Amino acid sequence: MVFREGTTITKDTNTVKVQKAHRPPGVFRAFVTNKRLLLFAVACGTAHALAQTAPSRTRAYVEALAADRFEGRLAGSNGERLASAYLVAELQKIGARPLPGRADFLLPFDFTAGSRDGGSSVALGGRTWTGADARALSFSDNGDVSAPAVFAGYGIVVPVGNDAQNFGYDSYAGLDVKDKVVLVLRYFPEDADQKTKAVLARYSDLRYKAMAARQRGAKAMIVMTGPRSPNAGELIPMTFDTALAGSGLVAVSVTGPVAKEILSAAGKPIDEVQQSLDSGNPHIAGFAVPGAPVHVHAEVVREKQTARNVAAYLPATNGAAASKPWVAVGAHYDHLGRGDHGNSLAAQDEKGRIHSGADDNASGTAAVLALAQTLAKEPRHRNLLIALWSGEELGLVGSSAFVANPPVPLDQIEAYLNFDMVGRMQDNKLTVQAVGTSPAWAKLIEQTNVAAGFDLQLQQDPYQPTDVATFNLASVPCLSFFTGTHADYHKPSDTAAKIDYEDLDRIVDFAAAIVRRLAGLDEAPSFTKVAQPIETGAGRAGVRVFTGTIPDYATEVKGLLLSGVIGGGPAEQAGLQKGDVIVEIAGQSIANIYDYTYALEVLKIGQPAKVVFLRNGVRKETMLTPGARK
Ligand SMILES: [Zn+2]
Repeated sequence: MVFREGTTITKDTNTVKVQKAHRPPGVFRAFVTNKRLLLFAVACGTAHALAQTAPSRTRAYVEALAADRFEGRLAGSNGERLASAYLVAELQKIGARPLPGRADFLLPFDFTAGSRDGGSSVALGGRTWTGADARALSFSDNGDVSAPAVFAGYGIVVPVGNDAQNFGYDSYAGLDVKDKVVLVLRYFPEDADQKTKAVLARYSDLRYKAMAARQRGAKAMIVMTGPRSPNAGELIPMTFDTALAGSGLVAVSVTGPVAKEILSAAGKPIDEVQQSLDSGNPHIAGFAVPGAPVHVHAEVVREKQTARNVAAYLPATNGAAASKPWVAVGAHYDHLGRGDHGNSLAAQDEKGRIHSGADDNASGTAAVLALAQTLAKEPRHRNLLIALWSGEELGLVGSSAFVANPPVPLDQIEAYLNFDMVGRMQDNKLTVQAVGTSPAWAKLIEQTNVAAGFDLQLQQDPYQPTDVATFNLASVPCLSFFTGTHADYHKPSDTAAKIDYEDLDRIVDFAAAIVRRLAGLDEAPSFTKVAQPIETGAGRAGVRVFTGTIPDYATEVKGLLLSGVIGGGPAEQAGLQKGDVIVEIAGQSIANIYDYTYALEVLKIGQPAKVVFLRNGVRKETMLTPGARK
């Protein structure tokens, strides 16, 4: 499961609940008396006796996938490659075949794995700083800029009316930075009161500073970390960023000594400058740096890597004359490696350790394999597509690649069943998500549950942080199974020993029964588009407007590419659709998803805003009226 920023984590006694910031209200429960467990309790006495009589069908898969030899299965890594080879071997044992037209079970795809500096530099008056003294920011455009420099304080602009105190902080007030190199400090004023700091912090993200500089005509931005700030004088690390997109600006960071030297050309010692910005009037003006132009060269090398989805199928045995002859089952098998890429929640003392990902998501992968093994032994009225995704933890990259270039026509897939974190059942509770994607689901699930006896929690919302979201966007009726989060989520302590194999096997039986029932329906389930708000952009705190856009995180374009719009939402009402690229909203140019997130800050609920977008390369305009987030 993907960790989303904006997700709050609250601790109670010994479990950690990850609550989605905007969990929709459509959760209801169906309580069914658990007759099955009761019968076993009578027949076997204890769960231990049960385990002895019926060996688990999922345990060996989970233990293999969570083992150290796969090194946490980070997409694109050697561990992921070895894990994919293991999955291929297991699928062969089950008797599954490569998808029609394919020679083997591997579906490789490319993704942006990170970025590194390719030799950026800053030069002034015959001196050049590189390597240890100057480094590109990870979102910088590549290029060279030679221009006079202007110091613009912290480079923070708080949109008018967007702070409760209305103090309208603007580092650029009275400054002309057009075609200049802007120098800014990292972070925000140190000595401001807590309330002011809280407002400023929201606008101190480097992406936001870059956007503010670019929109005022600057050609480059140099960031320095002042002597009074955390990480004083240090270069800014290049971050891992799968939503890579240039910022439309050349941007670098420099060390303290370089910053000192550049500012000394204006006769301003950096410590005094920062002191006055921190403690004095926040409107203190920036200043031009006289003398020779500053030369900024930025070079970011974006590294492409290849990861591997694994896909196979079990052909229908009774012909597949149905209008939709395929049923798909899937789970992501990738995880976080040692936690240095992606979204590890490892505590300080467990950093760098292998993240085994037994629940997330060896459990779901094991469920899919065991499900295939079960269905392989019986007559089938549908082709069973078995998909094991990579790149889920990096933003659903693997399933998105599959849907973008589907080896099986998507409109021939009757349904997709997804399994993500299904190994830690508590109190017999099973959550089934995306139930709103078809009117057929609720009845079918509850009928199947009469024999299974779970305490079901049905959630309508398909916009989940797992691969089910991809199939929902592709208009395939879908479901996702989930046993809830826990204290070991995204930590090295998510180990195979903590998995509840008995209940994991029950989930396999439950899913098998659903697949059988699907084949018995007179008509394939119809797809319903669920209208639900989701987080847009990076999910920054404080964004309360709802636009109903679904950004595409995986594709690199200038602007915001929409992978869809939410049914009935403001974007759909404005006529926006999948494939449109938003390049401007409310007068703010949008170069990437970060700009878009920040632009949302100035939108007002109920107040129409002009949106400029590209459709098939043609520039168009519409008005969008943001709603309130529910
Ligand atoms: Zn995860």
